[in-house]
Amino acid sequence: MTPLVTNRAQSPYTQHHPVMDFDALSWPSQRTLPREAATDEEREEHLVKLSGAVRTILECVGEDPGREGLLDTPERYAKAILFCTKGYEENLPAIVNNAVFQETYDEMVIVKDIEFFSLCEHHLVPFFGKMHIGYVSNNRVIGLSKIVRIVEMFSRRLQIQERLTKQVGLALSEILQPQGVAVVVESSHLCMVMRGVQKTGAITTTSSMLGCMRSTSKTREEFLNLISRK
Ligand SMILES: [Zn+2]
Repeated sequence: MTPLVTNRAQSPYTQHHPVMDFDALSWPSQRTLPREAATDEEREEHLVKLSGAVRTILECVGEDPGREGLLDTPERYAKAILFCTKGYEENLPAIVNNAVFQETYDEMVIVKDIEFFSLCEHHLVPFFGKMHIGYVSNNRVIGLSKIVRIVEMFSRRLQIQERLTKQVGLALSEILQPQGVAVVVESSHLCMVMRGVQKTGAITTTSSMLGCMRSTSKTREEFLNLISRK
C-alpha cells in the first residue's frame, strides 16, 4: 500500500493551491493549535472571556444582562459557539485513523445528502445545507462514516462555503490519492436570508472537482446524475 501523502508537495492536486497543512489544523488560523492544546484551566478562562463578550453584546443591543431571562445566556452562548466551532479541535490523521483500506476497486463511490451546519466567517451566523461527495477510487477506499466526520470537522469552523467545499475535496484527495474527487455543496446562508438582501429561498451551490472528475466530462456527468436522482 502506498504510504499516505503527508507532504503537500507530493500531492498532484495541491501543488498549485495554498491549502491547509496535512493535519488541517493550522490553516487558515494561527490560533487553531493553541485551542486544541488548551489545558482545562485555559478552557475555563476562554469561557469566562467569551461570556463577558456576550454580556457586552447584550448591553449594546439595548438589553439588561441582569434580567432573569438573560442571566445564563452569556455562558450558554459561549458554550454554543465553542460547540459550533469544535472542528478546530479535530485533525485529519486522528479522524482517518487507519480507516483507509486497500481494495481492488476503481469505480465511483458516492455519499450524498450529508447534512452540515457551519458559521459564515463574515457575519458569524449559520449557513447550512447538504454536501454530496464522490470519488473514483484508485484501489484505496475509506470508511464511509469517516467522510461524514471530515465534513463535520471542516464545517464546524468559521467558513465561507467556497473554502469548505475545497477543503473537503482536497482532504479526500490527499488521504485517498484517488483518480478523482467531486464535492458539491448546496446551502442556505442566514446572513442572506435574515438580513442584507433577505432572499429566503436562495440556495448557494459550490463545487470542487479534482482529477478525472475535472478532466473527464463523462465521469463528472455520471456523478452529477447520480447525486440529482431522488
Ligand atoms: Zn455571511
